[in-house]
Amino acid sequence: MGNLARRGSGTETAGTREDMQTADKGTGGGTGGEGKGIEAGGGGNGRRADGNKEGTGAAHVGDGIGSEGTGSCREEAGNGNSSGTENDGSERERGTGRKRKRHRSRQKKKYEKRGLHPPLAPMYGRYLVEICRQFLAGIPRGQIAGNVTKLLQDKGINIELNREQVYQLIEHARKLGYFVLRPPVNEELQQLVAKAYGKRPHDITVVDADGRAVLDEVAERAAVIVLDLVYDVARKKAAEHRQPIVEIALAAGATTMRVAKILADGLRERRCIPGLVLHALTPGFKADDPSTDPVSFFGYFHNLPTTVEYMALYAPPMVESQDYFKYCNEARYGGVTEAFSRKWEIDILITSLASAFDTHGDLRRFLELRRADIDLLMELGWIGDVQYRPYTATGPMPQEASVRAVTLFELYELVNFAGMRNKHVMLLSGPCGKCGDTRADALRPLLSVPQLKVWTDVVMDRETAESLLVQVK
Ligand SMILES: [Zn+2]
Repeated sequence: MGNLARRGSGTETAGTREDMQTADKGTGGGTGGEGKGIEAGGGGNGRRADGNKEGTGAAHVGDGIGSEGTGSCREEAGNGNSSGTENDGSERERGTGRKRKRHRSRQKKKYEKRGLHPPLAPMYGRYLVEICRQFLAGIPRGQIAGNVTKLLQDKGINIELNREQVYQLIEHARKLGYFVLRPPVNEELQQLVAKAYGKRPHDITVVDADGRAVLDEVAERAAVIVLDLVYDVARKKAAEHRQPIVEIALAAGATTMRVAKILADGLRERRCIPGLVLHALTPGFKADDPSTDPVSFFGYFHNLPTTVEYMALYAPPMVESQDYFKYCNEARYGGVTEAFSRKWEIDILITSLASAFDTHGDLRRFLELRRADIDLLMELGWIGDVQYRPYTATGPMPQEASVRAVTLFELYELVNFAGMRNKHVMLLSGPCGKCGDTRADALRPLLSVPQLKVWTDVVMDRETAESLLVQVK
């Protein structure tokens, strides 16, 4: 209860965090894990106050709330307003009034800093949940604006909401993870793709969605699968009397960023969280957008009530191909050798792929500076890349370009990794976030060529699956 699983497999399920927290109330710490239970790093769930949701008044966590075992702090944490508002004990009200005023002004500054509309600042938290609830109940926007305006005025907050702001706030709530839209999987397409490529249907997930947000939905579904894998790995390790610490490697890119965020949120909902070690599979690629570096995803896992260790990869994104193995294996560079030496400890690897024909792919964009390299790779039959390692329709690229990406795993190593017991490679194949083109052409060899079976689970959108079937015919 109270976790992602509960939001389950329905067509468009939506649950607010507030709803979910009630299910978790009053639960104690984790169970020490001999055999089955995993050791929770967390202890009492007072720490589980979901304070790190962006813009939800995180600074307020634990403010005047008994933080151990109350189980109610999540709602308080989610409330950008004051924790004492609902308590009508008037003396206490007066006593905390000034405090609240100061708190509000601090919050206002915080919201302004983030570019949020300051007059709406007190909306974040429980009123935002209220707007979502009314919207999902089918109440018209104008009426929601009126209802919530009245609610705010009753609390002494003088804000008049309008119809347009209702939409903005719902979108904002979704971004904060207050509710999720989870399209169903298309079982028929899963079966057809699996049959066409001789794979187990169980390993292929086709998200029955298209449109603008499809990438989010593919990431959402992948994160749910990874969440299950995390607990599966932890349980198996505990059963083997090993430390139930799960090591997860994250690739660069906007798709993995989405998965990492949803995964961290999903973990936060759980009562027991295994210890985690997060690895960066590559260094960052985009100097103008460091938010897509794997290291920057580590931030989502900060403050999880468990032990979290990090293993970054501090290398240049590209090095001369002829020096590569010397650079990674022989030269002792701090931040590089260490990452490489620990790569086989990884349990779950999350990555995506890119098509050679899509000019928005990171590798393609990087090589644009060296046109001769693109021409060479194209001549050799470059069709796609995983972890910036290019491949053709029949196997790994037979020849290197003049430069190559620094990445923990070569393609053949990924194939070995995916074939090992209790190791998982989650491969995401949504459409390009820029042009919307599917990556079916690049995915096809990964499904059909054994030397490119770099995955154990693949998640794709409906259009990609349909293209895969057309290509087979
Ligand atoms: Zn594109």
